[in-house]
Amino acid sequence: MKRDYAVIGLGRFGGSICKELSSEGMQVLAIDSDEDKINEFKNIASHAVIANSTDEATLKELGIKNIDHVIVAIGDNIQASILTTVVLTDLGIKSITVKAQNDYHEKILNRIGANHVVHPERDMGKRIAHNIISNNILDYLELSDDHSIVEVRAGEKMRGKTLVELDIRANYGCNVVAIKRDKDINVSPAADDVLKEEDVLILIGADKDISRFEKHLV
Ligand code: ADP
Repeated sequence: MKRDYAVIGLGRFGGSICKELSSEGMQVLAIDSDEDKINEFKNIASHAVIANSTDEATLKELGIKNIDHVIVAIGDNIQASILTTVVLTDLGIKSITVKAQNDYHEKILNRIGANHVVHPERDMGKRIAHNIISNNILDYLELSDDHSIVEVRAGEKMRGKTLVELDIRANYGCNVVAIKRDKDINVSPAADDVLKEEDVLILIGADKDISRFEKHLV
């Protein structure tokens, strides 16, 4: 289904979102206060407009109210990011995703009504750190401050064993929610499934439990 998006701020992060949404065939209104950025994106986005997003009247004129989802990707200028988010919530935009520069910025954005706050540098840093700890940790997704989902390749200590034998839930307090094997994904792994070298386990749990699991089994 085709939906309308607006991306405000076309730096590395916003620019990448704008390109990806456009290449997926979505209608994207790209907004930046910098003329060079708008020139760069005028052939990529459906519409590219030079505008200061902290100005409510301008956003209204651009028809922002008719947009399904607005992404605020203003990086360093935290004040402009906050003001823009306030203007968008005042205009009644239902879906607003905002990039946070730091934890304080994130807190404020949550308070003022951004319904999805992302922190790409911090999250990517965490993912890469876990991947550096072990090549078998393929991905890491934070669910809350203290719970995550990890994608782990069945390491040497797991291969040839069943889930019953490993008893990950009792030993580490984590749940194996799915096992990926080649292109198949088994969302209800059986207790007697023998793990193979190419298997990837998807685990959910508290960070402290996942950390114990990573230390002992990965
Ligand atoms: P990144 O870290 O993702 O590269 P930047 O901070 O470099 O992000 O880029 C943010 C973009 O947002 C810049 O292109 C800048 O011109 C734009 N921007 C900043 N303030 C405003 C504003 N008030 N209105 C519209 N665009 C803005």
